[in-house]
Amino acid sequence: MTKAEIFEFFRRLCELNPEPQTELEFGNTYQLLVAVVLSAQATDVGVNKATRALFREVKTPQQMIDLGEDGLKRHIRTIGLYNAKARNVIALSEILVRDFGGEVPSDRDVLTTLPGVGRKTANVVMNCAFGAETFAVDTHIFRVGNRTGLAVGKTPLAVEKQLERKVPQPFRVGAHHWLILHGRYVCKARTPECWHCAVVDLCAYKHKVLERGGKPRVSGTRDSSRKN
Ligand code: SF4
Repeated sequence: MTKAEIFEFFRRLCELNPEPQTELEFGNTYQLLVAVVLSAQATDVGVNKATRALFREVKTPQQMIDLGEDGLKRHIRTIGLYNAKARNVIALSEILVRDFGGEVPSDRDVLTTLPGVGRKTANVVMNCAFGAETFAVDTHIFRVGNRTGLAVGKTPLAVEKQLERKVPQPFRVGAHHWLILHGRYVCKARTPECWHCAVVDLCAYKHKVLERGGKPRVSGTRDSSRKN
């Protein structure tokens, strides 16, 4: 895609949804961090179902420590990998209380030192809580970046680097949301819904499905972003 096409790509997604938000529910930065840790290889809908009751009870790292690992597990056992996630959430809460005065640090490198927090999680927190121009490449962004030609790469990090280089202002803070939502609801993994895609004329994908009910000629783009 040319620079002008990339600008137009985001201009249209922005026009459709001027104030994109994460679909994870949270009341403060600590709850956002916990929700993102819980969302690894799980859906936002599933995480929200579990955290609604949890977040009524727990708003700070100290309250999570007081709830304890077993108490946390009771809230999140519908979420995949909940044993490991509970261990990580308690451990990271202890570190936040011990080393950061109970606050979530606004530094990606520091965030990635916390248990259960990988680069993608740190990028989401930096973007959603602190308004940083970060690009958290999940399965949807990886697919959309590669299919469209916007950000081609074999790994999530390669796609992230491409996005860092190519996404123009004023779209850099919102880009990660627009791409996730576009992948989740339009450029779907099995069958991209190109027939109602706002950027169809800008997209380089060779196997567009241009009629409702049509089938892709190939299976979805290879996806190697399934890690946190
Ligand atoms: S045209 Fe199809 S493949 Fe391209 S971004 Fe839109 S939905 Fe995805």
